[in-house]
Amino acid sequence: MYSIAIDGPAGSGKSTVAKQIAKKLGILYIDTGAMYRTVGLYCLENNIDFKDEKQIDTMLQKIDMKIELLEGKQEIYLNGKNVTQKIRTQEVGKAASDVAVIFSVRKKLVQIQRNLAQGHSVIMDGRDIGTNVLPNASVKIYLDASVEERTKRRCKELNLSSCQAERIKLEIIERDKNDKNRKYNPLKKAEDAILLDTSSMEIEQVVNKILEIIKIKIQ
Ligand code: C5P
Repeated sequence: MYSIAIDGPAGSGKSTVAKQIAKKLGILYIDTGAMYRTVGLYCLENNIDFKDEKQIDTMLQKIDMKIELLEGKQEIYLNGKNVTQKIRTQEVGKAASDVAVIFSVRKKLVQIQRNLAQGHSVIMDGRDIGTNVLPNASVKIYLDASVEERTKRRCKELNLSSCQAERIKLEIIERDKNDKNRKYNPLKKAEDAILLDTSSMEIEQVVNKILEIIKIKIQ
């Protein structure tokens, strides 16, 4: 059994690459960003004030998050409803980044993530996987790319025209700032993670490179 941690900023290619690797290796894919997005969605839909600790604690008790894992695919349910598609907007991404600074939220989600990883070979992506969730992961990768390239990818993913690129770029810069500077488990390359800059790489090249690394580290 082994685990692979993939961390990096928004738009660095983590989830696309991790899904493909999970399929190729026949292991589970765990998308931790989706869990923060689900909490963010609940807050948006229920007008929860991110700064009100009491409201956050009550919310955490009310949230029932179920995760279905397949090779290369994850479905997520919030209080019985499948929200896998609904959480993919920029607005929910921003709310996710806002709730991700709260210690009690992180504590609850990290527990779920560690439980999911037990007893299986997994590839997990996020911001604090190599540094905090799976500090003993067999392979740790930190993916990065220029802000310009990440903006292009996000626009393509969200089917947005180039005139919206400037707004997306500013949102990415803001999200990086939020994620890298928060107090608890900020986005940071683990000391033993391998850094890959994917700015001028095709997805297939990134996947093959990581598969090579896994082969060397795991055999
Ligand atoms: O990766 P994704 O864009 O879906 O993540 C949404 C937000 O959730 C991130 O911007 C980050 O603030 C938060 N997150 C986190 N720790 C993780 C995964 C995501 O703080 N392990």
